[in-house]
Amino acid sequence: MAEKRNIAFIGSECYPFVKTGGLGDVMYALPRALVGEGCEVRVIIPLYACIPQKYKDQMEYKGSFMMDLTLEGRTFFVGIMELEKDGVIYDFVENKEFFDWGNPYTGLWEDIPKYCYFAKASLAIMNYLGWAPDIIHCHDWQAALVPLYKRTKFWDTPVGAAKTILTIHNLRFQGICSIPHLKYWSGLRDDLFDYPVLKWNEQEANMFKGGIAFADRITTVSETYAQEIQTEAYGEGLDAHLRYHSPRLSGIVNGIDVDQWDPAADQLLAAQYDVDNAIERKKTNKTALQERLGLDQDEHKMVIGLVSRLTDQKGLDLVNAIVPQMIDGNTQLVVLGTGDPRYENAFRYYEGEYKGSVCAYISYNEQLAHLIYAGADAFLVPSLFEPCGLTQLIAMRYGTVPIVRETGGLKDTVLPFSGGDGNGFTFSWYDADHLLGTVNDAKTVYFTDRYAWDEMVKRNMRKDVSWTSSADKYLALYDELMQ
Ligand code: ADP
Repeated sequence: MAEKRNIAFIGSECYPFVKTGGLGDVMYALPRALVGEGCEVRVIIPLYACIPQKYKDQMEYKGSFMMDLTLEGRTFFVGIMELEKDGVIYDFVENKEFFDWGNPYTGLWEDIPKYCYFAKASLAIMNYLGWAPDIIHCHDWQAALVPLYKRTKFWDTPVGAAKTILTIHNLRFQGICSIPHLKYWSGLRDDLFDYPVLKWNEQEANMFKGGIAFADRITTVSETYAQEIQTEAYGEGLDAHLRYHSPRLSGIVNGIDVDQWDPAADQLLAAQYDVDNAIERKKTNKTALQERLGLDQDEHKMVIGLVSRLTDQKGLDLVNAIVPQMIDGNTQLVVLGTGDPRYENAFRYYEGEYKGSVCAYISYNEQLAHLIYAGADAFLVPSLFEPCGLTQLIAMRYGTVPIVRETGGLKDTVLPFSGGDGNGFTFSWYDADHLLGTVNDAKTVYFTDRYAWDEMVKRNMRKDVSWTSSADKYLALYDELMQ
């Protein structure tokens, strides 16, 4: 019988309270899977003003105290609001000065003090509550100072005995600012601002870099991304640092919460379905999607979906370059996303140019995302880099065939179609012609070998994209660290 473990999750977002991307999904789903394995899990996140009131109403006040921060030792209020959901305990860190700005991320200048405060307050809260974690699992740069505080200011307190893991969900965002700014707000010792730890260049410090140096283990969200970030092309300037720390670095691919994403029970669909009736019922969802978005209603057309933050990371310059060739009388494109105005405007332009065949829904919309996953035939994820990627996993769960670039988690989760095998269509070279060729391969199978296509749809729906095997890998890592 495995030992009972106390695990703290520290990160800047968590579905359904606040989510801007995949980090929010992981902070929701992995703790639930771990509770299912007998762990006690506390998730610590900021109490942002944007968290919906209905959740705030369910929170219980657990206490408050004053905490010193900054080089001058200024004191700040720390409130603890708690709620429990499906066995996971959520502790929200309350402080109006830092978290009442609205959205989680407001600009690096304010975000640096905010996440210095958050990292330190998270550790202080566990001591205040008298809850001793075995493992403190930190997520992305916003929680990257936790291992540093744990080994310095908190080393002789109860939380000091825990082991730390830092998971890299996206290396592009690192928390870089001037050395005096971070020195002032973190209040960390001068010697931590040397090159092996926080120093990034002569003027700047890097929070992620410091966390990587001080965490007991570093993980990232796919095996391929764990390798890629050790190269100059993907390392975002941290490749040498990661190569140096590579004995402590490994990759564990994400899963999705299969209850949250379940086509057989999804109330946001026009028709629920399972693997036995997917081929018919997906058509109902397709026409509902076409109707909702003002596209020509025709179940015989191939609908290609894309749900994404509209940023350079996601390979949207490749998509933009091929829309005119991709759209023919039999193919439609649905884009749901917000982000860089360059891409928002390009997709809006194509919507006007190809009325009835292209829809650009420039917004964040959970409900529509579900209908796209169900109603589309194929799903585009041609990313420049992709640590894991959840959308291709959700697409497969909904029987929608992914078209992806072979990078990071996309490479680890989508096997290329080869006759009777595979989950989707893939290309490796970051190039618009290669994407177009791959889209055309998908179209060829869709329009000329529907039997093979439908078999792939069913194969994808049967594929295990749940957290089960990944949660087991995290458990094995926790056990290893606790020995
Ligand atoms: P990233 O974390 O890089 O944004 P992921 O693929 O890991 O990408 O996760 C993206 C998550 O956000 C998925 O759950 C996806 O459905 C969701 N998402 C992205 N854009 C939108 C949008 N405009 N509307 C609704 N959901 C979205």
